[in-house]
Amino acid sequence: MRVVSTIAAARESAHGVVGLVPTMGFFHEGHLSLMRRSVAECDQTVVTLYVNPLQFEDAADLARYPVDHDRDLALAEQCGVDLMVIPDPCEMFATVPLTTVTVAGIGDRLEGVHRPGHMDGVATVVARLFAALQPDRAYLGRKDAQQLALVRRLAHDLGFPLEVVGCPLIREQDGLALSSRNVFLGEHRRAALVLSSGLCAAADLFEAGECKAAVLEDRVRDSFRAGEIEYAEAFDAATVEPVSLIERRAVLAVAARIGSVRLIDNVRLLFGDRGPEADRGVWLERPSVLYH
Ligand code: AMP
Repeated sequence: MRVVSTIAAARESAHGVVGLVPTMGFFHEGHLSLMRRSVAECDQTVVTLYVNPLQFEDAADLARYPVDHDRDLALAEQCGVDLMVIPDPCEMFATVPLTTVTVAGIGDRLEGVHRPGHMDGVATVVARLFAALQPDRAYLGRKDAQQLALVRRLAHDLGFPLEVVGCPLIREQDGLALSSRNVFLGEHRRAALVLSSGLCAAADLFEAGECKAAVLEDRVRDSFRAGEIEYAEAFDAATVEPVSLIERRAVLAVAARIGSVRLIDNVRLLFGDRGPEADRGVWLERPSVLYH
């Protein structure tokens, strides 16, 4: 695996079908699942590790974002990644960019409301990486369902000739969605299961025939203590518009603060051959040992 700090060096070695996995590092099984999928499907897999300041609305949150490059490099290498790009901060945004990307309608809802500027920050850095690295495919997790919709739409609108591949949400054995921020949960680790248990209870209701979004959203909200939840909402996976009746497919997503940690999670609600079906993600078979 080559490790480079400039985009120019990354471009030099690109060949064949290039898969890109954009990340902010501090890898867990969610990240690794994207890398393995890209390695299996592409000639060359490029992982970017960049803690993007544009998508943090709070300087303290940015300053405490977990970092462990040595461990990240070892894990990426084990997955068969060809090239790891850890861009020099000066290289990415030497000056605050005047050209930014806003995906109207998608970026200004949910996460966009609760984290002002966040979605524009994501869109701007992703567009920058797509333009600079020119991948053929980009692998993103469904854990960030709104982000996935945003990136699909920006690739379409700006005409990037690439395929955005949405990949399964990976959960710990007890259901907690893997996140780099889980390391901060500490004594609240068990309390954080309220996100996945609320969503799974709502998914059970959906599979039993309940299609009203308000009922499913209330089922998620019921699980939380006062003040914890930021939103519980069913929305269209492509447009992120709210849905009131689930007739085809939707994402049911939740955001909440547990202790001092802000977490998000979701399930997909679909109709299969046998009727309503929820995609709750993929449970790890072994405990994740990455940072326990
Ligand atoms: P991040 O480093 O948090 O920006 O995430 C980088 C990529 O990993 C994004 O495409 C995320 O959606 C994806 N990701 C993060 N957590 C998970 C998870 N639990 N399961 C699947 N993908 C994930």
